[in-house]
Amino acid sequence: MHKKLIKIDMERRNCKDMIHGVQGEFDVTERHTNFIVRLKDKFCDCRKWHITVLPYKHAARCIFRKKLQLEDNVDDCFNVDTYKNLYNHIVHPIAAPQMWEKRNLPELDAHMLKKEQLGHDNIKEESP
Ligand SMILES: [Zn+2]
Repeated sequence: MHKKLIKIDMERRNCKDMIHGVQGEFDVTERHTNFIVRLKDKFCDCRKWHITVLPYKHAARCIFRKKLQLEDNVDDCFNVDTYKNLYNHIVHPIAAPQMWEKRNLPELDAHMLKKEQLGHDNIKEESP
């Protein structure tokens, strides 16, 4: 992740002219193409920010101009706390069937079903 951000930071230097609009909206020019960047919406015309969820060089140029940190504009899915919360829950162990509470429901037993009940299409013929 850190290496990707360093690469993006290097690439943003290829973006030249930039017009700062209102409320975090920018017009960034790279070669002969201009891109509209809206930092608040994490949007750029090239759509790479939307696809990779990382601010691309056009957005990085704007972030640098506003003296913000690139890391602070990365999606929460890359956050360490998000990762820890994702694996915070455990799968609880299941008690042995003998320890289960008895109920007045019919027991399911797949071996009790006969071939006729399963239907011909569901039966796999054993090869000789
Ligand atoms: Zn872009």
